Amino acid sequence: MNKKYIQKYPLVWQKDDLYLEIFCSIPNIATGIVLTTDDSKFVIDPGDGILRDLNKNFSKEDILDFSDVFISHGHHDHVGGVWSFLTYLFVMKRTNPLNIYFPEGCKEIISIHKAFTEVYAAELTYRINLSQIDSAVKIKIGEITVEPFEVIHKEHGESGDAEFVPSLGYKFNYAKKSICYGGDTAYCKNLVEMAKGSDLAIIEAGAENEDDDMHMTIEQAVKIGKTAKEFFLVHVPE
Ligand SMILES: [Zn+2]
Repeated sequence: MNKKYIQKYPLVWQKDDLYLEIFCSIPNIATGIVLTTDDSKFVIDPGDGILRDLNKNFSKEDILDFSDVFISHGHHDHVGGVWSFLTYLFVMKRTNPLNIYFPEGCKEIISIHKAFTEVYAAELTYRINLSQIDSAVKIKIGEITVEPFEVIHKEHGESGDAEFVPSLGYKFNYAKKSICYGGDTAYCKNLVEMAKGSDLAIIEAGAENEDDDMHMTIEQAVKIGKTAKEFFLVHVPE
């Protein structure tokens, strides 16, 4: 693979109090992203290792303060840390509700949540609000407006044929700044439009070869990234 684009994680980006850190984004292994402002704390795609990475960077009190989780899609390298994150919060006696936003029809989050609440029904100290969303909703959380947008991602189903996976990218707008995260996607018009002019675009370049129709090549990702003021390429095969 193109070594030039293999990132050294973590990747950090900050403008005033808008802070974004990508702990890692490695295909088939894990993703983990946090976005914070003075008043907000979000986790985006809590893959495996998210608790370890949060714990390295934030105090216990700060981790308990994370209010919202955004899921791009249900693949394990994007949701593998959800169970341990949810467990940590009640072990540490969280009381505030936690909001989880995820693409409509994402069976992994629905299943994890169902199993989690069955196992820990008697011990849960906080409420989990699940929000299945699509691109029709804009979410306002404090001073941040989040715009979900549909992207094109697939997986190989039982028949071996590629099937579409419910997948979203998110654009976070705050204090006249914007961060666009595309999640996993093939080259798509929505991402092209949302990344354009963003202060930061986080673009996947996960294609193993030119025929990969689930991910983008480095060339495609760079082309989109360059339309933003700054960009990170992520999810690059190592
Ligand atoms: Zn994926």
